[in-house]
Parts: sequence; structure tokens; C-alpha cells
Amino acid sequence: MSVSTDFSVAIAGAGLSGLCLAQYLMRAGIDVHVYERDPGPFVRRQGYRIILNRYGLEALRESLPRPLYRLALTTGDEPGGHLRFTDSRLRDAFTINLKEEPQATRQVDRLTLRSILQSGLDGHIHYGKAAVAVDDGGPTGLRLRFSDGGAAPATVVVGADGVGSALRTQLMPDAEPTSTPMVGIYGRSPLRRDGESVIPDALRTSGVLAIADRPGRAFFFTSMRFGESPREAFARLAPGSYAPTGDDYVMWAMLLRQEELPIEVRGSLLALWKRAAVMSTDFHPLIRRLVDTAELDATVLNLFATGQRPHRWPVPRATMMGDAVHVMPPFGAHGGNTALRDAALLGRRLVEARANGTPVEEAIASYQAEMVPYAFHAVDTAAKLMRRLTGGAAAPHWVLTRVLPRLHRVTVPEA
Ligand SMILES: Cc1cc2nc3c(=O)[nH]c(=O)nc-3n(C[C@H](O)[C@H](O)[C@H](O)COP(=O)(O)OP(=O)(O)OC[C@H]3O[C@@H](n4cnc5c(N)ncnc54)[C@H](O)[C@@H]3O)c2cc1C
Repeated sequence: MSVSTDFSVAIAGAGLSGLCLAQYLMRAGIDVHVYERDPGPFVRRQGYRIILNRYGLEALRESLPRPLYRLALTTGDEPGGHLRFTDSRLRDAFTINLKEEPQATRQVDRLTLRSILQSGLDGHIHYGKAAVAVDDGGPTGLRLRFSDGGAAPATVVVGADGVGSALRTQLMPDAEPTSTPMVGIYGRSPLRRDGESVIPDALRTSGVLAIADRPGRAFFFTSMRFGESPREAFARLAPGSYAPTGDDYVMWAMLLRQEELPIEVRGSLLALWKRAAVMSTDFHPLIRRLVDTAELDATVLNLFATGQRPHRWPVPRATMMGDAVHVMPPFGAHGGNTALRDAALLGRRLVEARANGTPVEEAIASYQAEMVPYAFHAVDTAAKLMRRLTGGAAAPHWVLTRVLPRLHRVTVPEA
């Protein structure tokens, strides 16, 4: 495909949405470059899994070349399963059946997905480039400016620089996210010990949210099993691209109130893990074992925040996607899916505008008008779910941890 250079797109941030949009535009022959603050592609472990729902999968299907889309499906876990809500001793309160039609959801390893999204973009991703602002570059273009003093000219600039976005104050000045009372310490632990799965069969395809006796504390875990080994699948479908190791793992998260996590603990992986270990002592022995066997360097701290609806977009040829616009607490697994959905939608609008001569400002405005309602519906849903499951309201907490578990069998005996 020949690349047209009279129209170019500069994207700040090589995360899920930035890379997905770059793939979309590359396929359409549009000149696109991604500028990423990290010094290299895999400098952070980001070793957890992500559940792709129908929107995330559809966005990938639309954006990626067919072999890369197949790679995402084949390395992912079987779709479906359950989300169980239990008390701290893993006694069931209630269960949601997540099984939609086959292929409607997929559990994928995030590092593997990042590698898939980077495939084929050689020379189009520029590392060590922290975007700081967008300047007017004349009648037909903009300039994306970097902290190192450099700048890149482009017809359109897209901020996909995540929750801490440096471009947001300029491109969406009235929409700074607000923090929530909750944080999550995330970790991963090997799924097998001496060849045996540490997760009992009853929970094989379940995510579990174990709600502690104390309001505002809960533990989530789920297992990530690779479908086809990434090494073999990459060799077949994306030869030359980096294939992450395909060792199955359990991803977990200790959810707690911000005030329970002193500032001095937040910058140290060891201190965060220790905090999770101390807090897991009141939970079921399976949960304590998961924390005890964690891979320390995979620890991630996530301060839950909630995006605010933007009402003004002052730079008509620039826009934003993903967490930079609509960060949400990770309840319901909508954040990444919504980011991917944005990327495919914006890609579609830009490619249509190129094809039929629509002014690019109109294409961007149309993307924004469509994105804000679905994205903030997801933000509101996630925030509501977080309040319901971790809030301090006494009655719902009492029902979840005292009443419902007594009505159900013990799923995982403590022996
Ligand atoms: C532990 C955890 C589990 C999650 N699980 C799920 C799940 O199951 N399902 C789901 O849908 N979502 C999930 N999410 C949410 C999901 O990961 C995010 O919503 C998604 O990554 C957002 O994509 P993005 O492209 O907006 O930002 P990101 O993927 O965060 O990417 C932003 C990129 O911008 C770069 N950057 C930052 N500042 C600059 C700058 N100034 N200049 C240039 N580059 C910059 C960053 O280094 C990063 O690479 C989870 C999140 C966490 C933390």
C-alpha cells in the first residue's frame, strides 16, 4: 500500500489506543507516527491480563491486518466464564455468568497484546519522546512538541497518553479526572506449582472478587491461560516480532482505601507487595498463597480515578482517546475496551474524511460526539459498581459478606 504524505497523523502515547489507531491508519495508507515517553517498547512489566469484550475485539478486527488479529485470538484464553462474588473465605455470595456468544470475549495477556499491536510499525514508533504541547503549525497543520525541545509536524494530533496525560489541559481544559477513595495493588503469581494448578477446578474459568469483612477492602483474582504458545504463534503469524513468554499465571489485585496506603509505600514494589501480604492475612489460605508466591517485579499500583466529561475541545484538529479522556475504575473491564473502541472509531472517521473530502475538523468533531456518550456511560457504570462493591454502606456490605455466603456452599475448602 502506498503511503500518502499530504495528510499525516501524530499520536502521543504507544499504549493500547495509540497503537491500535496507528495500525488502522497504516492499513489505510495514511502517514502516521507514534511518539512514546518510555525509552523502549518493553521497559515496564505490565504483566497482567485484560478481558476483551465485543467492542475491544471488534476494534482489533477492524484495525489489525488479519494475521495479527488471529494472533490475538489464538494466544488468548478461552472466552466466557464466571465472575464470582464471595466473602473473604471464598464462600459464594453470587455469581455472574459472563458467557456470551462464542468469540464475544477473550482474555489476553497485555504484554502479548502490546507486542501484537507494535508488529509492523517499525520506524513509525519513536521512543523517549514525551509530548508536552500542541502548537499551531500554519494553515494546514499542527506541531506536536516534546520535552526534549523537538517537534513533529502533522495534519492531526491525537493525545493517547493515558491517565496522566500531558496534553489534556490544553486539548480538554475542563476535564481533569477526579481521584476516588480506592486503590489497587496488582500482582501476578505462577499458575502452576510442581506441575499442578494452584487454582482449584471449581474456579478454573472464574474471576473471583472476595469481599473482606472490613468495608472498602477486597481481593480479586483470575487465571490467565495462554491458548497457543506465543512463541509458536508469533513464529507463524508475525515472524520477527517479539514473542513474550507464554507461562500461565494468576493475576490478582488487593483493593483497598487510599488512606490505608501511606505515600512512602507507593514508590517501592517491595513495600507494595508487603502491604498486600499483610492485608491478605484475613483472607482464605488460597489468597494468602497467591500473594506469597507473587513475582515481585510484576507488582503494579493503580490509583483509581474517574474521568470528567469534556465540554470544550479548543484545538479543532487535535483530539484525545482512551484513559486520557475517560479513565475509569477497573470494575467491569471497560477501560481498555473503550480505548480500543475509540481508536477504531477515530480511524474510521479520519479514513472516511480522506476518502470523501470531508474537512478533518468535522471528522474529529463527529468522533468526539459519538465517543463521549458511550465512554462516559462506561465510566458511570464502573464508578457505580465500585461504590456498590467496596463502598462503606453498611446494609449492602452486610448482605454480601454475611447473608448471601451463608446461603451457598463452600466453593474452596480451607484444608
Ligand atoms: C492492572 C490493570 C488491569 C486492567 N484490566 C483491564 C481489563 O481487563 N479490561 C479493560 O478493558 N481494561 C483494563 N484495564 C484498563 C486498561 O489497561 C486501560 O484502560 C488502557 O490501557 C488504556 O489505554 P490507553 O491507550 O488510553 O492508555 P495506556 O495503555 O495507559 O497508554 C498510554 C501510553 O502513553 C504513554 N505516555 C504517557 N505520557 C506520555 C507523554 N507525555 N508523551 C508520550 N507518551 C506518553 C505511556 O507511557 C503509555 O505507553 C486495566 C488496567 C490496569 C492498571
